[in-house]
Order: sequence, then C-alpha cells, then structure tokens
Amino acid sequence: MTNWEHKSNSWATHIEAPRKKWACCKPRITFTGGTHCSYCGKLNPNLTEEPLEFDDWLNEQCVGGWEVIKISRNYKSQISKTWCVFRREI
Ligand SMILES: [Zn+2]
Repeated sequence: MTNWEHKSNSWATHIEAPRKKWACCKPRITFTGGTHCSYCGKLNPNLTEEPLEFDDWLNEQCVGGWEVIKISRNYKSQISKTWCVFRREI
C-alpha cells in the first residue's frame, strides 16, 4: 500500500497584509486588511505583488517530489486566489 503525505498552499497575484488599515473612496471608507475596496473595486494599496507567476510558483512547490492533486481558483477574488493540494509518497 502506498502512503502519502500532503500539503496545501495558496497562491495569488498579490500578497495580503492582513490587519493593516486603509481607506478608499469619497467619502472615505475604511477597511482593515482585505484585498479590495468593496465599493469601487480598487485593490488594497498594502498588497504586495507576488513575485512568481502561477506556473513558476507551482514548479517551486513541486520541488522535492510533490505532485499537485487539486487546484481550486476563486474567480470572484480580485487577486485570483488559488488553493492547491500536493502529495508525495513516503
Ligand atoms: Zn474605493
């Protein structure tokens, strides 16, 4: 019988700064964290761009014999949040 170990990790076009406060629109609306202004859709300025393209990120995640078994992208997410599950034989 094959034994597997698993890991999960998320990729997105931007990296979130969870608890940082920011404001947008007139009159100003204040947000804490989040990915975008729910009123105008502008991205949270505290986000930093993810340095890796998704394909390059996947290559990096698979180093050490990991294989992808599930990819789930949130298409409503302004930053294309993508959740991946990997496994490898132990
Ligand atoms: Zn706004």
